[in-house]
Amino acid sequence: MADDLRVRPAPLLPLRDIVVFPFQVVPLFVGREKSLGALEEAMSTGGYQEIFLSAQRQAGTEEPSPSDIHEVGTLAGIIQVVRLSDGTVKVLVEGRRRGRVKRFVRTDGCYVVDVEPLLEPAEDEAELAALVREVHLAFETFVKLNKRVSPEILASVQTIDGAGALADTVIGHLPLKLGDKQRLLEQVSPWDRLTSLYELLKAEIEVLEVERRIRTKVKRRAERVEKEQYLNEQIQVLSKDGDGRDEFKSEINELEERVRHKNLSEEAKAKVEKEIKKLKMMAPMSAEAAVVRNYLDWILALPWGDQSQSRIDVAEAQMVLDEDHFGLTKVKERILEYLAVQSLVPKLKGPILCLAGPPGVGKTSLARSIARATGRNFVRLALGGVRDEAEIRGHRRTYIGALPGKIIQSLKKAGTDNPVFLLDEVDKMSADFRGDPSAALLEVLDPEQNGTFADHFLELDYDLSNVMFIATANYLQGIPAPLQDRLEIISVPGYTEFEKVSIAARHLLPKQQRDSGLGELKLELPEETTRAVIHGYTKESGVRNLERELATICRKIAREYVRDRSLTSWKISPKRVAHFLGPAKFRSGRTEVADAVGLCNGLAVTSYGGDLLSTEVSIVSGRGKLVLTGKLGDVMQESAQAALSYIRSRAPSLGLDIDFHNRADIHIHLPEGAIPKDGPSAGITMATAVVSALLRVPVRRDVAMTGEITLRGRVLAIGGLKEKLLAAHRAGVTTVIIPKDNVRELRDVPKKVLKALKVVAVQNVDEVLRNALVLPEPETFLQSPSEAVDWRTVIDRRGRQEERRGDLGPVATASPPLALEPGGSAMPPSSGQSG
Ligand code: ADP
Repeated sequence: MADDLRVRPAPLLPLRDIVVFPFQVVPLFVGREKSLGALEEAMSTGGYQEIFLSAQRQAGTEEPSPSDIHEVGTLAGIIQVVRLSDGTVKVLVEGRRRGRVKRFVRTDGCYVVDVEPLLEPAEDEAELAALVREVHLAFETFVKLNKRVSPEILASVQTIDGAGALADTVIGHLPLKLGDKQRLLEQVSPWDRLTSLYELLKAEIEVLEVERRIRTKVKRRAERVEKEQYLNEQIQVLSKDGDGRDEFKSEINELEERVRHKNLSEEAKAKVEKEIKKLKMMAPMSAEAAVVRNYLDWILALPWGDQSQSRIDVAEAQMVLDEDHFGLTKVKERILEYLAVQSLVPKLKGPILCLAGPPGVGKTSLARSIARATGRNFVRLALGGVRDEAEIRGHRRTYIGALPGKIIQSLKKAGTDNPVFLLDEVDKMSADFRGDPSAALLEVLDPEQNGTFADHFLELDYDLSNVMFIATANYLQGIPAPLQDRLEIISVPGYTEFEKVSIAARHLLPKQQRDSGLGELKLELPEETTRAVIHGYTKESGVRNLERELATICRKIAREYVRDRSLTSWKISPKRVAHFLGPAKFRSGRTEVADAVGLCNGLAVTSYGGDLLSTEVSIVSGRGKLVLTGKLGDVMQESAQAALSYIRSRAPSLGLDIDFHNRADIHIHLPEGAIPKDGPSAGITMATAVVSALLRVPVRRDVAMTGEITLRGRVLAIGGLKEKLLAAHRAGVTTVIIPKDNVRELRDVPKKVLKALKVVAVQNVDEVLRNALVLPEPETFLQSPSEAVDWRTVIDRRGRQEERRGDLGPVATASPPLALEPGGSAMPPSSGQSG
């Protein structure tokens, strides 16, 4: 065909609103007379190969004259003709090549024209190839953006390599104006045509992109409007059907009202508003509404910036502390110093006070007094048994039944955000796999961090920096080390009997009398009676049980008073105590009734403060086994070994066989065997008890002792001297043996206690034995020629001690000393074994 460039005649079909290109197959609907004529002519056997399709200059012209028709058109083949019922004809044509009208051959009936086929000029292949590629890409983009062109068309277009063919095919798929199409048809050069097409394609793509952007924007807006409409409708439906809807509305109003009146942080406010909005969308009785409601309740119940007027007037604080507590001079002083510092700095800073001491010594009530003195509210959080970080910091809201942590819960209780916050028993926390609560507590107590304390439940920062934290502990050892770092420890050691009597008279009894409604009665508890209660019914360093017993007395009185209103004056004698409290629970004084062999009083510090702890030793025939019972810790076992080694080294002087230990088993037991015990301070007690058992010399029952022992018999310093002396005094001991290195600490011990006790300060175990064992001639004990030098100094010191101690009293020897002579057997007479 390409070579057939002859001018040929062809019937002309004028097109109104379409330009047909080569390579296009299009259906045409033909109705006009002249057009139908042209069609008939073409189909006749007149020898026409093709029909010439050419656009009218004006689509509206009904009967176009030759000048109304474009000269350039397309020679096309007729594929199919279908006559329709309305008289029109549908004809399927296929464009073949461009042509130009040379002249009109016939104009009657139909137009027949002479057509000159137009030849595409040869052009630069490489340039064309590049252009073809660009057009392919652009067309691909176009198809992607334009959903009306199917992907199959893209696939078929992609197979076209020829520039002219590509241009003509693509043009068919573009929504171009007729004028543009005609212009493209008239561009015979493929390069020119393709370039023009490329520009049009690009412009089209741009338009499509803008369209797409607009479409998505509009779509989003439409979606939003739709959603809002939907929700509003839902709310309306709900408000129509729910009885509780009105209530719900007023609940929401109330919530909004509360938000307005709360001084919420910006963050909290935004959060709360968001949650209220969510709540509005929910069904009032639904589970998720309950969750949101609970959350909102918590936030709105917290004291956001609500503060009590806090003031620190040290003089007034002193008054308050003195009013509430008897004694405790040192403790009060430390507290006042702390308050003085706090009154000078603008923000609470520095370490947290930690009141350490046994139960019932007034730690909690001191903290309460501090709150009263500083005008702050008071709240207490018991940390005993807390073992989970979430208990401090709360559970995430995703958990069912989640709650804020105890810190936040307590603040709700406090009602203000600057309370005195008592962290009770920080030593009783433990950690497990769920995270260490002490780490969370560290954050709470760190002034650098606690301005933004993050509770898991609240999911908001809460400011704890105005809270005055005070901690308490029974055992300092129980406090995790990093926490101890944050604390300023003030120890509250425990009371003497004298102090207890005064506390009972001034504080406990009046309080219990008031609490039992006996305010108007005249109630008198002589000192002797209080002592009887202390001795017979309590065994403690503090006064909690004493207070309890006094409360019992008050209750019993109340009962009798209710029965007989004339009994308005009461004086309780010591004898009547049993009437109120029943038989005594404890023996007054706790020492043994008689001096005994192998039984020695030690002194220990327990969670109740100091305590008397006796050591029992029994020797039986055996092979030198050392048995230790009574739940003794490693340190205690080692000090028992050390005591034994010392005794072995002193065997000749003690008059024992040099190998006594090979023929005897030594059993050391500390009663109350279920309670774990540890520490080095029982060293001299164990040594004394063992020596007593070996020599069968009793130990004085009114002596108690404490001290660490070394292998060479030196006595080293111990801890907790004050508590131990108080315990000894409580227990009715008269002589206490302490390490010389501890003498300095005696000034901390109440004068009255020191007056009642004889304190013997020692440097070595020999001195201990001389003071503790019931010996006929103590000053000659352990005196041997080989230790002449030692003896002199010992006797010297001994003399001085004797002066202080006064009369030793009659010496009771329970049984004759066993093998006191050097070289004698260490075994008890019952032993059947021979050495
Ligand atoms: P803790 O917290 O140390 O276990 P509490 O503070 O609960 O002890 O004290 C127990 C009771 O003893 C309280 O009623 C307290 O008022 C009273 N109390 C303790 N020490 C004194 C004291 N020095 N003066 C007056 N009352 C005291």
